[in-house]
This record gives sequence, C-alpha cells and structure tokens, in this order.
Amino acid sequence: MLYRGTYEGGCFCGAIRYRFEDVFDAGYCHCSICRRTSGAPVIAWVNSPRAAFRVLQGSPRLVATSADFQRAFCDQCGTLMWTESIDPARWDMVSVHHGTIDRAAEIEPAVHICHDDRLPWLRIDDVLPRAPDSRPPHPGGRGDPRWQA
Ligand SMILES: [Zn+2]
Ligand SMILES: [Zn+2]
Repeated sequence: MLYRGTYEGGCFCGAIRYRFEDVFDAGYCHCSICRRTSGAPVIAWVNSPRAAFRVLQGSPRLVATSADFQRAFCDQCGTLMWTESIDPARWDMVSVHHGTIDRAAEIEPAVHICHDDRLPWLRIDDVLPRAPDSRPPHPGGRGDPRWQA
C-alpha cells in the first residue's frame, strides 16, 4: 500500500457518502473516458481494495462506461465518484476519483496512466512514472519510498 488508513468522501451535494481503507496506488489518468465523464482534461484516481470500500449513505447511479467497467455518479448533483469492474471477480480494487475524497490533500499521485492519450497541450511538470496505457507497473516495483507491502 502507498497509504494506510481510513478515508471518506462523497459527492458535491452530500447525498452520497463512502468510506474506504488503505490506498494501493494513486495517480492520474489521461484516457478519453475519464475526460468525458468528468469534464476535466485529466483526472486523478486512488485505487483501494474493493473488499473494504463501503457506501455509507445514498444510492449512486452506476453507468457502464465500457464493456468491463462502470462508474458511480450522484443522481442529484452528477458528481463522478468512483469506477469499478462490473464483475467484482474481475478486479479487486475500486478506483475512487480523487477530488471527491475529504482528505484529498493527504494522498499524493504516484504515476500517470494512459499517458499516450493525453491532451497535447497539457504540461504536468513532475517526474512520476508514465504508463502509455491503463496498466501501470506495480507500485511496489517503482521504487516509491511510500510503498509498504
Ligand atoms: Zn450529490
Ligand atoms: Zn481513465
């Protein structure tokens, strides 16, 4: 894990609230689906073990955005809050959209994914690893000082 701890978050209007334990990985995604569903030129995500992710309040609207993944939106205010595999057996993480986490300032992105899809004018001046597609190297193998197995 990159971070241990309990984190909570929710949508803009407060109808939906969630909680998760621990952060396996965190980064930026430059893919066109993240751009379109968020309205932003790049999004930041936090991957947490699905077994410890809970909806505390409200019922999100789940929208399938590809053959394998669905995204959770608030049907009151429209906030995009997380992405998960439609079949829970396919992926054991939930990808929480970073800006909806209450203590977002405590979780720093560690990698860029889908870097080949980035907008050509976007300049992000960091030294984080850049994965060309949606499969970043395992965080334990990137030499990140935060990693603890
Ligand atoms: Zn809402
Ligand atoms: Zn994406």
